[in-house]
Formats: sequence, C-alpha cells, structure tokens
Amino acid sequence: MSTATVTYQAAAASDRGRKRPANEDAFGFSVEHGVYVVCDGMGGAAAGEIASTLAVDEFMHRMTEKSAKPSREAAESAVLASNAAIYTRSHRNAKLSGMGTTLVSLVVEASQAWILNVGDSRCYRLHEDTLEQITLDHSLVEEQVRLGRLTSEEAARSPLRNVITRALGTQPHVTTDVFELETVPGDLFLLCSDGLTRELCDDQLAQMLRSSHELDVLCEDLVNAANLSGGRDNITCVVVRVAA
Ligand code: CA
Repeated sequence: MSTATVTYQAAAASDRGRKRPANEDAFGFSVEHGVYVVCDGMGGAAAGEIASTLAVDEFMHRMTEKSAKPSREAAESAVLASNAAIYTRSHRNAKLSGMGTTLVSLVVEASQAWILNVGDSRCYRLHEDTLEQITLDHSLVEEQVRLGRLTSEEAARSPLRNVITRALGTQPHVTTDVFELETVPGDLFLLCSDGLTRELCDDQLAQMLRSSHELDVLCEDLVNAANLSGGRDNITCVVVRVAA
C-alpha cells in the first residue's frame, strides 16, 4: 500500500426537485473523519424524512465519535446501528410503521476506501476519465436486468422501477454490500439518490464530473441538470475528490 499522504475534498447538495412536496433525502459528511453518506427515505407523510435523517444521524454519530476509526468493520456496524434506530422508532409509533431508507456510504482511511450500500442510491467513481458504477442497485428491475430478463430500457420504463428489494429500518436485520478499493489522486466519487440517476444517464453524469469546476459548483450543476430534465424526485449528491 502506498504511504503517500492522500487528502480529500467534498461538497454536497440536496433539492426537493420539482414535483415532490417534501425532501425525503438526507446526507452527511466529515472530511476529517473520512465519512460520506446519502440516504433516500420512504414511508407515508413525514416518515420517509424521519427514516433518512435518523439513518444519517446514527451513521455519522457512530463514525465520528471519539473512539471511531474509519474501517470496514466500523462502517458495517454503523449501518446495523442505523437499521436498529429506524426499526425501533417505527415500532414505537404506528404512524411511522414500515418507514425505511436507502443508504450509500463512502468511508476512507488514507488511500483505502470502503463503499457500502443498501437499496438503490448509488456510488460512482470517475477514475482515469472513465465513469464506473461501484454499487449494484437492490431494486426489483435492476436485479432482473442483471439476470438478463429485462433490458435497461425496459427497466427504466417499468411501473415497478421504484420497488427496492433491500432497505434500512424495515426488518430487524439487514445485509449490506461492501466494496473495497484503493483511491488514486484525481479520482472523483459521486454518492447520489435515484432522483439524480433517473434524470441523467451515465454519459451525462460522466460529462459533468469531468468538468474541472469547483465541487460546490459541480453539485449545483448536477441538481440543476436533474431539475431541467424533469426533477420528478428529490435530488441529492455528495461529491468527493481525491487530491494528492
Ligand atoms: Ca428517491
């Protein structure tokens, strides 16, 4: 492993979009602690917002408390704690019953990175000018695409496209996907909710991420582009650049 110092820069934006009455997405990050997270809540009325906020708060709390060190184990255990926080809360209040959220997180320690996800919020990496989707959506239609039973075009049009097959908070236990990689100076990570990826295809995302804009400008541009394309859902993005 390289011993060179690696530093990170980050920015984020979240927007209600043009159709939804409220923003049920949430995000959090701490460059100092090497932790970045996006959650997309679901449930009736205020429940989705509560679920995503609870997940981000619990995850950030676990990953930034005094004894916390960024690691795969710490991140996995923080996801389980977030799951338990939502599950417990939803069982105390009938109005919150069944609430849940997606979660996608990037955790870094020097050049070591772990990406965790549950649900259909995604992590991408722009690496040597190529955009790669790191996470796999836990959604009914994307699972059918991976099995070769649906094309991407059919998946995008399907009335079942919103059905996710894993969520945080709806069951006492949750299985998290974890991806491990080494970061390289120049890499750019994007964590986002489906309100971004439903409106912009991978080619559009790649083109925007290749721009040399400041990260906060990039976030603003991503949100604006998704809104211009329809803004049918809440839009959230966290971008993280690996500097030398
Ligand atoms: Ca969404």
